Amino acid sequence: MIKIEFCKKCVESNNRFLSSVQHKDKPNTEKKYASFDSEGVCLSCRYFEKKETFNWEEKEEELKSILSKFRSKDGSYDVIVPGSGGKDSIYTSIVLKEKYGMHPLTCTWAPGMYTDVGLKNYYSWLNYGFDNYLLTPNKKVHKIITKLAFLNLLHPFQPFAIGQNSLPLKLAIEKKIKLIIYGDSIKEKAVEKTDKEESILKPRPWHFMENNDEIFLGGESIEKIQKNYKIDLSELNCFLPVRREIVEDSNINLLHLPDFINYNPQDNFYFSKQKTGFEVNPDGRTEGTYTKYSSLDDKLDGLHYYTWFIKTGRGRATEDAALEVRNKIITREEAVLLVKKFDGEFPKKYFKDCLSYMEISENKFWETIEKFRPEHLWTKTGNKWSLKNTVWKK
Ligand SMILES: [Zn+2]
Repeated sequence: MIKIEFCKKCVESNNRFLSSVQHKDKPNTEKKYASFDSEGVCLSCRYFEKKETFNWEEKEEELKSILSKFRSKDGSYDVIVPGSGGKDSIYTSIVLKEKYGMHPLTCTWAPGMYTDVGLKNYYSWLNYGFDNYLLTPNKKVHKIITKLAFLNLLHPFQPFAIGQNSLPLKLAIEKKIKLIIYGDSIKEKAVEKTDKEESILKPRPWHFMENNDEIFLGGESIEKIQKNYKIDLSELNCFLPVRREIVEDSNINLLHLPDFINYNPQDNFYFSKQKTGFEVNPDGRTEGTYTKYSSLDDKLDGLHYYTWFIKTGRGRATEDAALEVRNKIITREEAVLLVKKFDGEFPKKYFKDCLSYMEISENKFWETIEKFRPEHLWTKTGNKWSLKNTVWKK
């Protein structure tokens, strides 16, 4: 538990989780939190200040020189671009192919439950002209792990996070492709104190595993999952990361395109709309936030952000607004109002779909939600829960 504070430049909270090694998470695993400096500013805002001093022409030259080392001469795949047909993956794949002459193989870990707009955007991406590997995990197993992840960790999106982390690497090893390029940069949302400055990275701890004993899916050991649900180990295979020694031998490199090219979420939204006909949320804004163009593919998305809000007191509107403040798309004052208005809004549109996917009753759902409200964040008056501290009350 850490006393809640909000960044003085954006609206981010110091209770924001940093990314963890998802496949090791157990119910009692301690979380790492976003760091603020002595002036009360989050490290992501500091990263954006530093970004303003970057020489982007030099960065692009560096990118070109990296790409020239990996570009194939015979047209075979030379880079993997993970994605779903969202604005980041559209931008990255098209720029790599058309501007830098690369031969991308795109790959997708299927959402738990596709939304109509998500599926449409996925096909528009491929129609534009990309080969794609789609891995849709065994649904029986996916549902069980999603349910366990909700009950044990209040993290129904965990199976997606695990799959999305390991699939590109598995594919790169299988296809002998030495480069993976991501369209987003974690530094823009949550900087870790120890973050190194290297622009080309080696696989990180969440990409691989040592052995099966350290694996927990939905917070449960794989031994227990096999026994309790009569599942064969082979059925859990696609959820298991690659072993460390195989990853190390494979010599695969990762990079994040926003570390080399200066673009923001609005730019690549307009780019994607123009190039592939990328469609936004047909309802207008997405539940829990004011934006309409991010995380649209999975009916579990809304629930994912809502559970995050319960555990940390900051939700999807905070995530979006903080990033838009850093990108100077909105001011902090506007962001505060947007957070006040939309953060933590309950995702009712696909609520019934989520319950039936996880085979959880509505009572069990609310019982679980209550269990995960940290005392330092929440207070109850009568039947109504409210946050003890908010960015607009300060
Ligand atoms: Zn900040």
